[in-house]
Amino acid sequence: MPFKVLIANRGEIALRAIRACKELNISTVSVYSEGDKDLKHLKFSDETVCIGPASPLESYLNTPAILSAAELTQVDAIYPGYGFLAEDSNFAEMCEKSGFKFIGPSPETIKSMGDKITAKTLAENSGIQIVPGYKEDIPDDEEEFKAIAKKIGYPIMIKATAGGGGRGMRVVKSEEDLISSAEITMQEAKIAFGNEKIYLEKFIANPRHIEIQVVGDGKGHAIHLGTRDCSMQRRHQKIIEEAPAQNIDESSLNQTYEACINLCKKIKYEGAGTIEFLYEDGQFYFIEMNTRIQVEHPVTEMITGFDIVKAQLRIALGLDIKLDQNSIKFFGHAVECRINAEDPETFQPSPGKITKMHIPGGFGIRYDSHIYGGYIVPPYYDSLLAKIITLANTRNSAIKRMISALDEFFIEGIKTNHPLHQKLMHDDTFVNNEHTINYLETEFLKNDS
Ligand code: ADP
Repeated sequence: MPFKVLIANRGEIALRAIRACKELNISTVSVYSEGDKDLKHLKFSDETVCIGPASPLESYLNTPAILSAAELTQVDAIYPGYGFLAEDSNFAEMCEKSGFKFIGPSPETIKSMGDKITAKTLAENSGIQIVPGYKEDIPDDEEEFKAIAKKIGYPIMIKATAGGGGRGMRVVKSEEDLISSAEITMQEAKIAFGNEKIYLEKFIANPRHIEIQVVGDGKGHAIHLGTRDCSMQRRHQKIIEEAPAQNIDESSLNQTYEACINLCKKIKYEGAGTIEFLYEDGQFYFIEMNTRIQVEHPVTEMITGFDIVKAQLRIALGLDIKLDQNSIKFFGHAVECRINAEDPETFQPSPGKITKMHIPGGFGIRYDSHIYGGYIVPPYYDSLLAKIITLANTRNSAIKRMISALDEFFIEGIKTNHPLHQKLMHDDTFVNNEHTINYLETEFLKNDS
């Protein structure tokens, strides 16, 4: 009997998961909302189940509806992808309680990593360098609190321990704003996350975003698949990602790899995960661990030849897999551009009908996308339309290849950030790899307007 997996997601990642399932002879069940009847992957799925109205709360975030679909179709396991319920420990727990394997780490691990203080403590205990700060309870006495902040040194960042998605954070430049900023962050956190606990971190002024892809088998074996640089961001949303990260201090990197593997082994990490860092002046500072597949996973797959989604499936279903660090070989450089349905200047979402389009191809070019000519991009979900990935011997050649791929690509009918990518590929700061996480917003877009 082949395994059967329910894909609890939509768009390009649902298609990516189906492709991996097919290669492993796993049958697929795809769930979809009423607003998503025309999604491409539904045509390639063995079975499909409508789980509710277009609103994500009533469909892709609707645990009872997803579990009913799983029961109806008698699947073995549930693949969460990214976003939606992928990092919801309650969902993972409900899957397991209902007799379905959740494809990812245990609910306990998801929960620990979802709480920023617990995650920082776990990381620190495995030898991972964290952002200096203060994670004990904030004292009631204002003077005592001010003394703690002063010791860390301004500017500092106040963070909600239950925060996520770039929310629940506030930079404090000087002591006079400390108390009011802390109070506002706590109030906001209470409303947004139901948990008002906050902690302090040093504000790292101008870092790069570097992350490490890890894979664990849940039995104490783990490997890393190298680094990614995702510094080209707008409002904490990554736009361009590449692998490997270049110009990184080798001894810091090796120490960090070792500590990441330590962490995964210690918590018997299961499946794919990403440990994210801010990197400045040769130092890595842990920010969080994402306990799921990430949008940018293809750049790592391209430079290693390691299929991360297949590994997730194999590990979860108990299929044969050997995680051997020595067998991981790195080749060349990969760059990914995220094509979003949004105005390239105002960044306003631009849903609607794609009247005409053409996709790029050729040597070293990968295109991961669910869209097609005639497809109507619905307004209810995230704006990611396509990922164009290039692989070449060197970073410069991968950028050149991307320029040619972007020239071939076109979408008509809706606005996309395609022109922004074309400009960025010719931008000296990007080409020279001198950009930090602040570059796009504080320099490039300002100079551009
Ligand atoms: P979230 O879970 O909300 O995504 P993260 O802790 O991953 O929050 O932080 C999101 C982004 O916020 C980081 O990628 C970085 O750009 C910025 N950031 C977080 N912590 C710091 C810090 N201590 N100093 C400077 N920037 C930070």
